[in-house]
Amino acid sequence: MCRQCPVTCDRVVYPAGCVDADCEKLYSEDRDGRIVMGCAAGVFRAEIDVERFELAQRSRFGFGALRVERDPLAVCRTSVDEAFPHRSEQACTNPEFLLDEMRRRVLNLDASEAGATPR
Ligand code: SF4
Ligand code: SF4
Repeated sequence: MCRQCPVTCDRVVYPAGCVDADCEKLYSEDRDGRIVMGCAAGVFRAEIDVERFELAQRSRFGFGALRVERDPLAVCRTSVDEAFPHRSEQACTNPEFLLDEMRRRVLNLDASEAGATPR
């Protein structure tokens, strides 16, 4: 998260990307009859009810994103969520935070060009 200007930017991760990538850190467990999934690397901390996740994925908006709690891995599908953009009256004072996300996208693009699965 960055709060260096009147805007707040959060890095978020899309659990749908974990499923699409068949990430080895994505675990699923039975919790009292409900199957939940989570990230063993701690990139996101919530445990997601798989049935509700799949229901949301079939909707127009999909499941959406969760706030990143730890540095994402190269495999993670992430983006930067800018809160209250209407409050921003000044230029970004921490472009590295946003650039990091752009670098991640370029790296993933390079990987896809090299024959890997695009994320
Ligand atoms: S490491 Fe990234 S892609 Fe893998 S489960 Fe965690 S958040 Fe998802
Ligand atoms: S716009 Fe830039 S300075 Fe402002 S919160 Fe986002 S990354 Fe930080």
